[in-house]
Amino acid sequence: MNNDPLAPGLYIVATPIGNLGDLSARAIATLRGAGRILAEDKRVSAKLLAHAGATAPMTAYHDHSDEGLRDRILAELGTKAIALISDAGTPLISDPGYKLVRAARAAGHAVHTVPGPCAAVAALTLAGLPTDRFLFLGFLPAKAKARADKIAEVAAVRASLILYESGPRLGESLAALAKGLGTRDAAVVREISKLHEETVTGTLSELAARYADTPPRGEIVIVVGPPAERAEASDDDLDRALDEALARLSPSRAAAEVAAALGIPRKRAYARALERAAG
Ligand code: SAM
Repeated sequence: MNNDPLAPGLYIVATPIGNLGDLSARAIATLRGAGRILAEDKRVSAKLLAHAGATAPMTAYHDHSDEGLRDRILAELGTKAIALISDAGTPLISDPGYKLVRAARAAGHAVHTVPGPCAAVAALTLAGLPTDRFLFLGFLPAKAKARADKIAEVAAVRASLILYESGPRLGESLAALAKGLGTRDAAVVREISKLHEETVTGTLSELAARYADTPPRGEIVIVVGPPAERAEASDDDLDRALDEALARLSPSRAAAEVAAALGIPRKRAYARALERAAG
């Protein structure tokens, strides 16, 4: 393991989300080499730091910590390696840190990351849903109206959605997702990297029914697949729509209207509109 002294700067260090074996060699070296460790909850992190053999003083840090604390951290960053950890996983992801990173950069300090476990990405790898585009939503709001609004905001996004959730709210959240997003494949991923790791897949409404009265224990990520691609319109659909539009409009305008309505390329609609118009 590299035990070279760490250059001054802020080090964002990812920690395990349930399995201590996931603490990387570089994370251990960074925590051992740091002159100060910023943690969300000092009691939660004490165990991990003992496991890593890190002895630097710990300071509690939240993005809503007072400006005075942030200023003191910034003043130290010029001469000290300071590590930022959260209770579990990657700092800044539904966890504190972004204001500190922004302030450290603005003050000209070096910022490094020691990447590692993140429940959102780990759940995506387990869900068996498309991974080429995904949108992380964090936790849904607790109040029904705000939750429905947030879901409506992303309903048209053509990407898998990743949400953090707790057992007691899982059933309600799945029901709201089923109502707002319709039929979509989804996965409830629980206790990643722990003894009772589990991935349950189904449509949103199947999962909502399954968890309606039986809230599961442990930590949970919901992954929702993207909306289904609309089936390409058949030639018959196209002809029917064009004949109706050509009775009112020029071939060019009819083609534009029908292409938009059927979600097909305008070129295809226009070529067919010219044939239909010619009789
Ligand atoms: N920063 C963390 C990360 O990188 O994943 C997330 C922190 S957020 C405050 C905590 C939430 O992450 C939990 O409520 C749960 O939704 C999810 N989570 C954390 N660990 C998990 C695990 N082992 N299995 C499933 N979900 C987990």
